[in-house]
Amino acid sequence: MNILLSTKSIKLIIEKLRLALLFVLLLSISTSSFGWGRTGHHTIVDIAQNYVTKSTLDSISKYIENDSWHASSTWMDELRGNKQFDYMRKWHYVNVDKDKAFSPSIENGDNVVTQLDSAIFNLRNRRNLTPEQVTLNLKVLFHLMGDLHNPLHAGYGFDRGGNDVRVVFKGKSFNLHRIWDTEIIETNQYFEENISTKVKNTKRRKLKRIAKGNATTWFIDTRSALPTVYALSSDTITTEYLEQGHPVAENLLFLAGVRLGYTLNDIFRKY
Ligand SMILES: [Zn+2]
Repeated sequence: MNILLSTKSIKLIIEKLRLALLFVLLLSISTSSFGWGRTGHHTIVDIAQNYVTKSTLDSISKYIENDSWHASSTWMDELRGNKQFDYMRKWHYVNVDKDKAFSPSIENGDNVVTQLDSAIFNLRNRRNLTPEQVTLNLKVLFHLMGDLHNPLHAGYGFDRGGNDVRVVFKGKSFNLHRIWDTEIIETNQYFEENISTKVKNTKRRKLKRIAKGNATTWFIDTRSALPTVYALSSDTITTEYLEQGHPVAENLLFLAGVRLGYTLNDIFRKY
């Protein structure tokens, strides 16, 4: 009897281990076409954590544990297929044609610029929110600050933010959007080193200047990266193309991190 029970227990343990392994595997292979890949979003909140004050960190920890900033930053990407949050489906990006200006009413406000500003507004006025709503708005802020600083999430309409541009990379077919979501970071072996140097060397006065503005002005900054994104000499992604893109992507991640940190300090300064 005892032997039978322990065999059953072993089978149960093996099954649990198998499921755990499958989960880890799924996490590692899942790629997102909904913004910077996981590495990009994690980098942004890491930079932001560097700039938030102790009191901001303490205030945020009431809503988000200090060690789950990473998970919070990608929460919006993990909602795909979840009907409850279907209303957020278009919040990750905005497409604006070359000669047009941004308008807050694009997609009836269901766009990254309007929703980022809205999350910041909601958090400033959090007296009207439940703790659950504060947590939700923080997750939206963490994620959309990242997405807004991805040039193909602030791209043109004609090719749906690079989704319709086919390119060849390492002998395989990709779309340009995917190159800028993940490959531009994953192919840059120095990106962590370069960003941490930037974090260390940027003076406070410059940081304050970087952090000024709102989602509409940050959108304009991100759009200035589009000529680099479209500087394709052929349909093949070359080493030169990637090398030109690397510092641009590093800078955008840095801007997003600084802006997130300072915005959080500003939101939680009062109360
Ligand atoms: Zn996204």
